[in-house]
Amino acid sequence: MEQELKDLRVEFSNALASARDEAALEAIRIRFLGQKSGCLTHLMRGLGRLPADQRPRMGQTVNSLKKEMDAGLAAALAALASPERRGDGLDPTLPGCAPNLGQLHPITLVRRELEEIFISLGYSIEEGPEVETEFHNFEALNIPPDHPARDDHDSFYAGPGRVLRTHTSPVQIRTMQRCQPPLKFIAPGMVFRRDAIDPNHTPAFFQLEGMAVGERVSLADLKGTLTVFWRRLFGDRIQVRFRPSYFPFVEPGAEVDISCILCLGKGCRACGGSGWIEIMGAGMVHPAVFRAVGYDPDRVSGFAFGMGIDRIAKLKYGIEDLRLFWENDLRFLGQFRNESPR
Ligand SMILES: [Zn+2]
Repeated sequence: MEQELKDLRVEFSNALASARDEAALEAIRIRFLGQKSGCLTHLMRGLGRLPADQRPRMGQTVNSLKKEMDAGLAAALAALASPERRGDGLDPTLPGCAPNLGQLHPITLVRRELEEIFISLGYSIEEGPEVETEFHNFEALNIPPDHPARDDHDSFYAGPGRVLRTHTSPVQIRTMQRCQPPLKFIAPGMVFRRDAIDPNHTPAFFQLEGMAVGERVSLADLKGTLTVFWRRLFGDRIQVRFRPSYFPFVEPGAEVDISCILCLGKGCRACGGSGWIEIMGAGMVHPAVFRAVGYDPDRVSGFAFGMGIDRIAKLKYGIEDLRLFWENDLRFLGQFRNESPR
């Protein structure tokens, strides 16, 4: 009888697994538990014929199998009634959810484009730490302690003598300390200033700085290099002009303008009607900077320039608010592809 019960259990679970609707479940119930001819019912009736000492144990076994079958049938019935099983709310013809594919941030796309132009001009790429010493960030760049750029309101300090770099220029210092001229490199990277957040300012932003040092490097080399660079980036009709300006680490220093990329110099809203866009700073490296890194300013000369990558990305993609670059809204970021939209 014990074997019979075991077989019955297997038979029942197989039948249950293949049942697809309520009628099939009802047929199973009748087959195993029906009052008249259910297999288990039949076995229960047979308990009385067993020897008295076996009756209690077998009675228990049969009872627990009956409970198991009742529970199995109830669970199968509940599963049939569930929405997934019925197909409610499931339309197999609806389009699926496409996974979001990662892609490069617009700032990264622009940075890489700028890097490629300079690499094609023979420049290498140098990097430096984002937490800098005051020496590398200020003093070596001819920015004495009383200079306004040293003011707490402009810089984030990270402990005594340490500052989050306010420009990528300290990479110039580190590279010159490490290498001897001739040198030609760019330094792209994140910089930090205590600016209030608005459409044109974020406390962290990206710069790309460049430098060339050697014997007889001249202002004409600087103008030629930058003209080639801007024309590669925005097209051959771009004009470049220099206006005298002051930066502590260059002499002479210049603000560099390019002709407006939208109106090409005619004057439009984007350029405030002037036809020109202020785009970067540049100049000939100050002798004090060369002395700070142990170069002889009588023997070498050089130029340096710096530009904001965010600002170029804004211009290139026609974006009016810098904050969009930081909000990580996928609807915004998804508009930029590796192919240049130029
Ligand atoms: Zn314009």
